[in-house]
Amino acid sequence: MSTIADNILQVSSRIQAATQAAHRAEQSVHLLAVSKTKPAEALREAHAAGLRDFGENYLQEALAKQLELADLPLIWHFIGPIQSNKTRAIAEHFAWVHSVDRLKIAQRLSEQRPADLPPLNICIQVNVSGEDSKSGCTPADLPALAKAISELPRLTLRGLMAIPEPTDDRAAQDAAFAAVQSLQASLDLPLDTLSMGMSHDLESAIAQGATWVRIGTALFGARDYGQS
Ligand SMILES: *Cc1c(COP(=O)(O)O)cnc(C)c1O
Repeated sequence: MSTIADNILQVSSRIQAATQAAHRAEQSVHLLAVSKTKPAEALREAHAAGLRDFGENYLQEALAKQLELADLPLIWHFIGPIQSNKTRAIAEHFAWVHSVDRLKIAQRLSEQRPADLPPLNICIQVNVSGEDSKSGCTPADLPALAKAISELPRLTLRGLMAIPEPTDDRAAQDAAFAAVQSLQASLDLPLDTLSMGMSHDLESAIAQGATWVRIGTALFGARDYGQS
């Protein structure tokens, strides 16, 4: 049985190998531990093994874990779909939001970001697979949305986030992540972040320029949605 610490070593060595293979700088890819459905104890174990950044999809679940882990210096990232009535709590309790896909949500986050906190780091989620069910703005809507968000006072637009259609085909993975990178490059904005790559496709994402990989299963094991 592998422990979370063992899994972190394995994922870190995958990241390191992919970073080297892409001839990228050693510390240019950051590991975001995606801890949805996992108990606070698992995050505590991951922190003890060196992780600091955690991504959560469900607000109530995240807030409960933040309370339980308030003694640790963790950095919280919101990565799930956002309803308007959740923006205040997200603006108050997270350092990053990776899943902004419309202006109304960004405006509320900016208005509701507390004055005593630094600006909220934002990635725009973009839908490069064209699936109807997925969230994310369309590539066509991206330039105007990015410009508008970059002008909001309490947000710092850092870059793009994507969740391409899952596939084991490396060429298809590469094509989807390359599309995200080129969308980012086409924006005339000072962006430094590409949030892309999960447990099954982090190598491809890193080859195409990812700066955050969001890893759940490979760190914490399979998720059980049957409980709770
Ligand atoms: C669950 C989730 C992940 C992690 O996926 P794994 O395949 O378990 O690594 C990454 N990003 C988002 C947005 C997620 O919802």
